Amino acid sequence: MIVSRQEITRAAPMVAAIVLASMVLGYAVITGILFFIGFHDAALHYTLATVMPLLIGTVTVFPLVILTQRLRHMKGALEVLTRTDVLTDLPNRRGFFERAEKAFASPGGAIAVMMIDIDHFKSINDRYGHEAGDAVLQSVARTIRRVVSMVPGNGEKYAARIGGEEFCVLASSVDNAQTAVLAEAILQQVRQTICRHRGDIIKTTVSIGVASRRSDESVNLVLRAADHAGYRAKRLGRDQWRDASSVADRGPPDDDEANSVRLHARNS
Ligand code: GH3
Ligand code: MG
Ligand code: MG
Repeated sequence: MIVSRQEITRAAPMVAAIVLASMVLGYAVITGILFFIGFHDAALHYTLATVMPLLIGTVTVFPLVILTQRLRHMKGALEVLTRTDVLTDLPNRRGFFERAEKAFASPGGAIAVMMIDIDHFKSINDRYGHEAGDAVLQSVARTIRRVVSMVPGNGEKYAARIGGEEFCVLASSVDNAQTAVLAEAILQQVRQTICRHRGDIIKTTVSIGVASRRSDESVNLVLRAADHAGYRAKRLGRDQWRDASSVADRGPPDDDEANSVRLHARNS
């Protein structure tokens, strides 16, 4: 096992504590044994009771502590990995929902959710190849992340890749006007971004569905409303955003629970 100096420094306090504890214990045990068998050589007693636990303890405990620290570090890294999309480095679906549930759990406060879908992405794959498609996904992800990071305020705001060519944005503590500015900015920045891949210059656009949480709606409910608004943006010609609060962008009336709840809420 190759051990770095940093690992030794990090492990040292824990090792010292364990060795000290084992010395005290060792001293008590060996003293008891020597007393029991009637052995009274003070020098040997001291050596056995103090130095032996120190030596044995240090040699055996150090690798164990370092191994434990490595495992803990790996667990942390794995936890991050399970919530991160490897292609774009954005939170993945799981990462999105975990953070969203937390944001939705805090009472009050406006939360806007956007469903962002790349337009005609399949044709990019077909025309330029899958690798180029991946490069476009990375480029769009960078653009969305950059635009979202510029939203003012301390509220939770982040972008995630929740599926193939589908992204989500959550922004809390934003009003309708700020949400509209954000959606417009994403549309415009993606439209203006050029993705260069092996000599090809690839441009793309996105369609966005926006929905805002009202009262105690769940993440799923708001996301579904945003999804319907996104479909509406697609049907109306793509490269645009639609807001679920507009009646027409809410989706077919008999569609699902999300729509019926929203219809009820909005009509009351
Ligand atoms: P629309 O404008 O209606 O959204 O059309 P679209 O072509 O974007 O949508 P469609 O659902 O027909 O195609 C999505 C494509 O995304 C199909 C799939 O092969 C591709 N895709 C999904 N994940 C990845 C990925 O990780 N990399 C690449 N390169 N392509 C992907
Ligand atoms: Mg899609
Ligand atoms: Mg698409």
